[in-house]
Amino acid sequence: MSLDAEWAIQWVRRSAVVVQEHRDALTALDTAIGDGDHGANLERGYNAAVARLDEVAAAGQAPTTAGEVLQLVATSLITTVGGAAGPLLGTAMLRASHTVDGAQVDGAQVAQMLQEAADAVRLRGRAEAGDKTMLDVWQPAAAAARQAADRGEGPVEVLQAAATAAHEGAQETLPLKARKGRASFLGERSRGHLDPGACSTALLIQAAADTALAAVDQES
Ligand code: ADP
Ligand code: MG
Repeated sequence: MSLDAEWAIQWVRRSAVVVQEHRDALTALDTAIGDGDHGANLERGYNAAVARLDEVAAAGQAPTTAGEVLQLVATSLITTVGGAAGPLLGTAMLRASHTVDGAQVDGAQVAQMLQEAADAVRLRGRAEAGDKTMLDVWQPAAAAARQAADRGEGPVEVLQAAATAAHEGAQETLPLKARKGRASFLGERSRGHLDPGACSTALLIQAAADTALAAVDQES
């Protein structure tokens, strides 16, 4: 069992829906410890990605690999999102795209994809684990994915393990003191709030798992 370009396309479409559903909640989180634009930022970025997917499909140039899809998302996020999260997520998707550039994506490649995304956020954001950023979700998600892949699990199970760890990672940002991004300006007062980028990243990874499960269900 493996995933393909169509899964990645559905992941992007599902992400756009989920981001829209959670826009106000993400904005509320960012209002508490940032400038209140995180929901709108991601909505703009993912709407642009979906519009671009529609455009290339209409032109008969739909992506043929998951990697091409992630590249398209990366470009959309980097060019349309002004806030910190757009370029960070875009860079993560761009680096992740190179690990899934074949027609089929297996469990080990999914794990590698998540690890590349985590590494990209760490490098680009100069963030470390525990800084109360989206890295606190990418990193545990990648680690859980690696463990599942090493057990020989397929891509759906690997993504489900990643999604569970992602949600835990997002919740664990609550007591942390922010050391990166706008929230760091609040110092101690950033404690007791969830990090918006961590929460949105968990939603995006959950969307990846949900669409993978749907892809397999359709196959069987
Ligand atoms: P901005 O902070 O420019 O308003 P957003 O509100 O869209 O951008 O995104 C804020 C999120 O970006 C934070 O919740 C955090 O997860 C993430 N973030 C900000 N700076 C960094 C960084 N240096 N490294 C990793 N993640 C970061
Ligand atoms: Mg913000």
